[in-house]
Formats: sequence, C-alpha cells, structure tokens
Amino acid sequence: MCERLEKKMAEKSWLKKIAGLKRLLSDVGSLWPNSTKLAGYGEDGPYHCEDCVYLKRGKDGKPFADEDGKGRCVHSVMIADSEVKKDKSFLPIVNIEHGCCEFVDQKKDEKGKEE
Ligand code: SF4
Repeated sequence: MCERLEKKMAEKSWLKKIAGLKRLLSDVGSLWPNSTKLAGYGEDGPYHCEDCVYLKRGKDGKPFADEDGKGRCVHSVMIADSEVKKDKSFLPIVNIEHGCCEFVDQKKDEKGKEE
C-alpha cells in the first residue's frame, strides 16, 4: 500500500475513534486528571513529547521549536482537542520537555527498540 493511502486511512480511522472517544467522555466525564479532556495532554507528568513520533521534526530529525521553545504535535486527537492551544496552522503547541498525552508513541531505533 502506498504511503499516502496509508496516511489517509490512518486519519480516517482516527476520525472514527475521536467520535467514539467524545461519546465516551460525554457519558463518563474526564478520564485523566490534570490533563485536557480529549487527548489527556498535560505538562506535569514523568513522560515527554521529545521522544514521541508525533512531535514535528525538521529534516535533520531534530524537534521543531518556535521562538518560545515550544514544539508542535501532529497527532489527530491532539489536533481535535479544543482545550489544546494551536498555532496559525492549527497545529497543537506542546512543551517538548514536559508535555505528554495519552497517545504518546516512543521513537524506535534501527533494531526496533524504544529509544
Ligand atoms: S502531545 Fe502526545 S502525541 Fe503529541 S508529541 Fe506529545 S506525547 Fe506525542
């Protein structure tokens, strides 16, 4: 399957999951303490966006950082989370060192081990 088609399918599957998650949250309320309701984004946990595959990176593989040192997240649930601050391109603004959400996915090295 070509990469573009895979990406499109992934985004579609996230739309369905996001709708289901919103229904669940409206039934049971917030799931994660001290975090946004939908994505569970917070900035006081032990994990961080720095190692996550959804953190926006430059061609050199280093995290993108704006003038305030903040990064950008490209995860669909973070984009759909109205409580998360967004930039002009509607990308979620995240704290690279202290931010994290329920959808963190750690980068893997060449051997498939988490870095
Ligand atoms: S907010 Fe979540 S998905 Fe986005 S970069 Fe941070 S840990 Fe990854």
